[in-house]
Amino acid sequence: MKTAIIGAGAAGIFAAINTKEIFPNSEVIIFEKTSKLLSKVLVSGGGRCNITNSEQSISEFSKNYPRGGKQLKKLLGTFNNQHTINWFEKKRVVIIAEEDGRMFPKSNTSKTIYDLFLSETERLGIKINLKSGVNKLKQIGEKIQLEINGQNFLFDKVIVCTGGSSKKEGFNWLKNLDHKIENPVPSLFTFNIPNEKITKLMGLSVPNVSVSIQGTKLKYSGPLLITHWGMSGPVVLKLSSFGARILDDKNYDFEISVSWSGELNFELVKTKLQSILSENRKKKLFNIRPYNFPKRLWSYLLERSEISEEKPCGEIGKKQLNKLVQIICNDNYNIKGKTTFKEEFVTCGGISWESINTKTMESKHIKNLYFAGEIINLDGVTGGFNFQAAWTTSYIASQLK
Ligand SMILES: Cc1cc2nc3c(=O)[nH]c(=O)nc-3n(C[C@H](O)[C@H](O)[C@H](O)COP(=O)(O)OP(=O)(O)OC[C@H]3O[C@@H](n4cnc5c(N)ncnc54)[C@H](O)[C@@H]3O)c2cc1C
Repeated sequence: MKTAIIGAGAAGIFAAINTKEIFPNSEVIIFEKTSKLLSKVLVSGGGRCNITNSEQSISEFSKNYPRGGKQLKKLLGTFNNQHTINWFEKKRVVIIAEEDGRMFPKSNTSKTIYDLFLSETERLGIKINLKSGVNKLKQIGEKIQLEINGQNFLFDKVIVCTGGSSKKEGFNWLKNLDHKIENPVPSLFTFNIPNEKITKLMGLSVPNVSVSIQGTKLKYSGPLLITHWGMSGPVVLKLSSFGARILDDKNYDFEISVSWSGELNFELVKTKLQSILSENRKKKLFNIRPYNFPKRLWSYLLERSEISEEKPCGEIGKKQLNKLVQIICNDNYNIKGKTTFKEEFVTCGGISWESINTKTMESKHIKNLYFAGEIINLDGVTGGFNFQAAWTTSYIASQLK
């Protein structure tokens, strides 16, 4: 049996190793378009490779995928984060969890994963052809013909692991074979807020903020990071991921509402603030810190509410109090444009699940052709979920069922 793997990224290399381990007598050949393999793995997780997430419930795990979560949930029954940890540990790479659930190799460097993958392909005799982009695929009987650098080759099985593509045309060679393509748009990005005073707070992280996108149902809570161009942090990345399509439709021009306290109920915030103010009537406003707001944020919120921070707490009038409460729990900003988060982004869209057998990852249109990784309409939030999607789908594809 001759198997071709197209693409030498996370999914491609993982698929190649597993295929060769399951079918030791088969010939496994990888074709990679560029002159490098595993380029994203090397730079991933800030050079540390956030390999998976420690979330134990499959049901909760799958909720981290705005696209493909339902299909992945079933596949995780066969190969989930625990299988990933075992897989790597069997090959002497210890994986450890951080408090927030992200999991990394104990060495804290993605080079460990790169080196392991490379030595495994060598040990198993997997051939890797660089500068070998595949741009045509044809079914010939039970076999599949690939056109690589002007030459045609025949294979018994082919696993396509070519990753995401920001352009729809990038999928044309597969669309022409009847596969349905979900329009690709970027996911995982940060929000630009041009000409706003808030960017003066750059570098400030606020632990529990609630952010919603006006005119949509999108609303999440979590840590928010203020940057020199706008807003980032887990809550913003989550919104960009779940809202990828809606925000693309809006051409990345939209309004958000921020509750700095994480509490959205105006009356509850007002009651809490009133009680803090009345307990500290003589203190100046800058000396109190409702909701444990960082000092710089509290000064900013007072300035935005047009209240002097020198004012004693007992001298706040009704109108000023209402304005301050409004700013604390419903502070609006216009977002204009997006920025890539630490160069990490994924594609929302790709090969539709309608074109894939969700038990085997085989194409519904071409026998013996399989898909794995980000090429599929499957993407997750940050935290190791995108790599887990690559490991799960490529492990299942490599069963070649
Ligand atoms: C900077 C950055 C950091 C990231 N960090 C993390 C992280 O820490 N944790 C996490 O879970 N996710 C992370 N991600 C997301 C994760 O890297 C991807 O989801 C994952 O790499 C997808 O794997 P893949 O193999 O499907 O695609 P890719 O890794 O993109 O690999 C696809 C490969 O196919 C090749 N190729 C494309 N077309 C062809 C063709 N026609 N013929 C031959 N070869 C082709 C490409 O050159 C590439 O090498 C990060 C992404 C980025 C960009």
